[in-house]
Amino acid sequence: MIRFSIFGIPVEIQPFFWVITALLGGALNARTPDSIFAVILFILAALVSIVVHELGHALTGIKLGGGRASILLTSFGGLAYNQGGRFNRQQRFWMIFAGPGAGFAFLLALIAGLSLVFGAADVLNFTSLILFGTRPEFHSFELLSFLREKPFVFLFLKHLLWINFWWGMINLLPVMPLDGGQITDLFVRPQRRVYLIGLVASATMAALSILWLQSGYTAMLFAFFAWKNYENMQSVRWQ
Ligand SMILES: [Zn+2]
Repeated sequence: MIRFSIFGIPVEIQPFFWVITALLGGALNARTPDSIFAVILFILAALVSIVVHELGHALTGIKLGGGRASILLTSFGGLAYNQGGRFNRQQRFWMIFAGPGAGFAFLLALIAGLSLVFGAADVLNFTSLILFGTRPEFHSFELLSFLREKPFVFLFLKHLLWINFWWGMINLLPVMPLDGGQITDLFVRPQRRVYLIGLVASATMAALSILWLQSGYTAMLFAFFAWKNYENMQSVRWQ
C-alpha cells in the first residue's frame, strides 16, 4: 500500500491498481527490457492522469464546502471521497464533471505547453495522429526529430494524450458507476431508467469494442457494467 498526500489531500494506492494498470499497459506481452520499461511508462501516465482526474473531484468538493477529501486508487481507476459535505444537485453535477474536466484541462495544458516549444500546428497534427490515427502533415522536423531521439518521452507523451482524452470520453458515457452514469443519475428518474440507459449504453459499447475497436479489455469492462446495471435495474422499483 502506498500513501502520500497532494495539495493536502491524502492519496492511497492499493496493490491491485498496479496489477490491473500493468495488464492494461500490455505487461503480459512484455519480454524485453525496453517493452517492460514501456509498460512502466504506461503505468506512470495512468497514475498521473487518474490522480489529476480525482483531484478534480476532490478539490471541487472542497471548494463547494465538502469538508475532508481523500483519494483512493483501486483496481479499475480511482475514487474521490468528500466527508462531511452536503451538496445540492447542481453542486454534485460540478463535482462529478470536475473529474473528466480536470483531465481535459490537463490535456489542453499539455498541448499548449508543447505548442510553445514546437509550434501549434505540428503539435495539433501529432495529437490528432495519436488520438484519431489521422495522417499527419508536419511543417518542420523539430517535433519529429525530438520524439525520434527520445522514444521514451514519445511513449509517455502518447499515453498521457491518449488516456486523458479517451478515458475522459469513455468515463462520460451514461453508464453507472462511471461519472457520466452518475450525472445521468442526477437528472433521470425513476432510478430504474438510469440503469436501463446504463445497460443499453454498456451493451452497445461492449459490442463496439469487439467489432470495431477489437479491444478485449474494453469489451470485458463494459460487459461487466452491463451485467451490474441489469442487476441494479432489477433491484430498484420503477417509481
Ligand atoms: Zn471520476
